[in-house]
Amino acid sequence: MEKVDVVIVGAGIVGLTIGARLAKAGRSLYVIERHDSFGQEISSRNSEVIHAGIYYPSGSLKARLCVEGNKMLYEICSKNAIGHRRVEKLIVATNVKEEEKDLPKLLENGKRNGVLGLKIITKSEVAKIEPNIEARAALYSSSTGIIDTHNLMKYFEYKLKENKGEVTYNCNVVGLRKLPDGYEVTVKDTSGDIFNFHSQIVINSAGLESDSIAQMAGIDTKKQNYCLKYCKGQYFRVTNSRKHALVNRLIYPVPHERASGLGVHATKDLAGGLRLGPDAYYVDRNKFDYEVDISKRKAFCGAALKFLPFLEEEDLIPDTAGMRPKLQGENEDFRDFVIKEENCIGFPGFINLIGIESPGLTGSPAIAEYVEGLIKPILS
Ligand SMILES: Cc1cc2nc3c(=O)[nH]c(=O)nc-3n(C[C@H](O)[C@H](O)[C@H](O)COP(=O)(O)OP(=O)(O)OC[C@H]3O[C@@H](n4cnc5c(N)ncnc54)[C@H](O)[C@@H]3O)c2cc1C
Repeated sequence: MEKVDVVIVGAGIVGLTIGARLAKAGRSLYVIERHDSFGQEISSRNSEVIHAGIYYPSGSLKARLCVEGNKMLYEICSKNAIGHRRVEKLIVATNVKEEEKDLPKLLENGKRNGVLGLKIITKSEVAKIEPNIEARAALYSSSTGIIDTHNLMKYFEYKLKENKGEVTYNCNVVGLRKLPDGYEVTVKDTSGDIFNFHSQIVINSAGLESDSIAQMAGIDTKKQNYCLKYCKGQYFRVTNSRKHALVNRLIYPVPHERASGLGVHATKDLAGGLRLGPDAYYVDRNKFDYEVDISKRKAFCGAALKFLPFLEEEDLIPDTAGMRPKLQGENEDFRDFVIKEENCIGFPGFINLIGIESPGLTGSPAIAEYVEGLIKPILS
């Protein structure tokens, strides 16, 4: 049986970023991915926003890793010519007066989280920078941006391989068995051939399947509260290119408490296009698809009309959809990322990353640094 330091399950942005970091530190490692290329699941079906870290409860991993990851991503992208733009963002209070009262709360929360470049701006200040949108006031964020996620993943895959890490595609992790000195990882390829690795460390970054992978290793996911619920997010694209230029920044509504997403918002892409979404609704994880329901067009347009008054329903066509791996069910309280070395429940060297929904893309380089910190005492 081949022996390695680390096996990473899943070549999404999280697995690749961790892999690149550990390979650079000289660890022998395999990343095992069931698809024929990286990032075919959550990582290629998102808003591609470099979040600032405004919303998350202070002291949470989501807040900390988002704020740290934001800075790290800008640096990585600038140094390595990975497409990105610091487009800035406005969270707008529209016709509901109560929303205006929420802006100072968001500002304070963002500041507590260490977000720089936040300020509340008045209606006339909004009009100066975004003359075509509707807002009574807004929270302005200078550190929000957009990123070419595909090229970011390509970069991390390259760095991983450059440092002698391996990524094995078309291979499904089908078995995990605890041994006295690590884990036996069983992998099945597309032709049905089975391989076993002996790995001292297993890193579970399997996204939508991360709870199943933990269970495969023998972890009681119910007891640990690790069971994932799937929450779909759909996007519509604005086709009328004349209207793309009417907005320069990312425009978000004030979020509602306990909402499953941030509310239908407008994001720009690097080509200058304009998208609305994602919405958020829970689906049955055993029968889901990535179809975008055209009948939701009216609701999308209605939600966005509050701040984009120039929109017409005919401007919108279905775009993509993504799936959030959520630890909290509908209307339940906030749940943080699970990023843990599971020694205390009898699985030393097993690192779980469960519930890595947004801001997992933004946080990815900081997540990798955090995971490296978790395994250092074991491998040193
Ligand atoms: C609608 C939506 C919008 C979002 N917008 C943003 C945003 O703007 N900014 C932001 O920061 N974050 C955003 N996110 C969150 C971000 O996309 C995720 O946090 C991130 O992509 C998660 O990456 P991952 O590597 O954990 O998961 P994935 O990319 O899903 O990777 C996991 C991989 O594991 C593989 N796998 C699973 N089981 C097995 C197995 N048994 N064997 C082998 N391989 C396996 C899968 O095939 C998959 O490739 C958004 C998410 C969604 C759904």
